[in-house]
Amino acid sequence: MKKLSIIVPCFNEEETIPIFFETIDKIINSMNDVVAEYLFIDDGSSDRTINEIHKLNMEHPAEVHFVSFSRNFGKESALYAGLKEASGDYIVVMDVDLQDPPELLPKMYEYLKNEEFDCVGTRRTNREGEPPIRSFFANQFYKLINSISSTNIVNGARDYRMMTRQMVNAILSVTEYNRFSKGIFSWVGFKTKFIEYHNIERVAGNTSWSFWKLFKYSLDGIMDFSEVPLSIASWTGVLSFISAVIGLIFIVIRAIMVPASSVSGWASLTCIVLLIGGLQLLCLGIVGKYIGKIYLQSKNRPIYIVKEKK
Ligand code: UDP
Ligand code: MG
Repeated sequence: MKKLSIIVPCFNEEETIPIFFETIDKIINSMNDVVAEYLFIDDGSSDRTINEIHKLNMEHPAEVHFVSFSRNFGKESALYAGLKEASGDYIVVMDVDLQDPPELLPKMYEYLKNEEFDCVGTRRTNREGEPPIRSFFANQFYKLINSISSTNIVNGARDYRMMTRQMVNAILSVTEYNRFSKGIFSWVGFKTKFIEYHNIERVAGNTSWSFWKLFKYSLDGIMDFSEVPLSIASWTGVLSFISAVIGLIFIVIRAIMVPASSVSGWASLTCIVLLIGGLQLLCLGIVGKYIGKIYLQSKNRPIYIVKEKK
């Protein structure tokens, strides 16, 4: 018998937890050489999520375990906590809203059991049911990050993936504070197989990701896995220096050849000053963002704080 740890981050999911457990339990029971260990991570929910988890833990004390955070630390922290607590031979990470098709579990397990792969990931081939503007920006994000980062981040790849113990240990050895899991999964390497499926909508409840939250998350992802924004800052500086020198030469030559009689050109001058000032602030901002990340990392704060654990 192999042990499969199922890590489930939950944030305000009181409606979905019972449906989730029932569905997964059926599938696990149909796999005959696997025992499951459920690890629910309550990410500081403000509804009755923890009560639902307590209930499951009372009913199945051997299989259902949980970690409850002292506040909302975000899905990335919840994933890290789950991976840290998991004791299985194989570990799978799943959303609780059943958007990650559970019927893929046996197939994923087969790939790992045959030792063909170290990790089986999943990829959405479409984004049906999502606002078009969000899909557009998501696609642009993947294009951008893959063109400027050496870590490959697969478009549409979900966090839903099954991994071997060896790969999970590798992920746990990455202890950085700013965690962009999609990047970390790919960064640690190992042989990964992607299974494709069509997007499925939530069974109940609402998504907790606003457009703004996703936008900030994508910027963090870019900065955690690329230093290209920093080079953009320096290259803008070089370009503006070169154009200033060319302009200066032009002005000097003109002053010698055609002596100016009246003051003109102050409007364009103001524009140029503002433009350069703006570019300087932008570059300073980029540098500042990276320093902010270094600052957070150097404080060495824990990635999450546990309130209750079983
Ligand atoms: N989640 C979490 N902490 C958060 C936000 C979300 O643990 O701060 C969990 C949530 O309960 C769910 C998963 O992460 O199990 C995915 O969230 P959601 O379904 O809201 O995202 P979407 O599927 O819309 O990308
Ligand atoms: Mg979801």
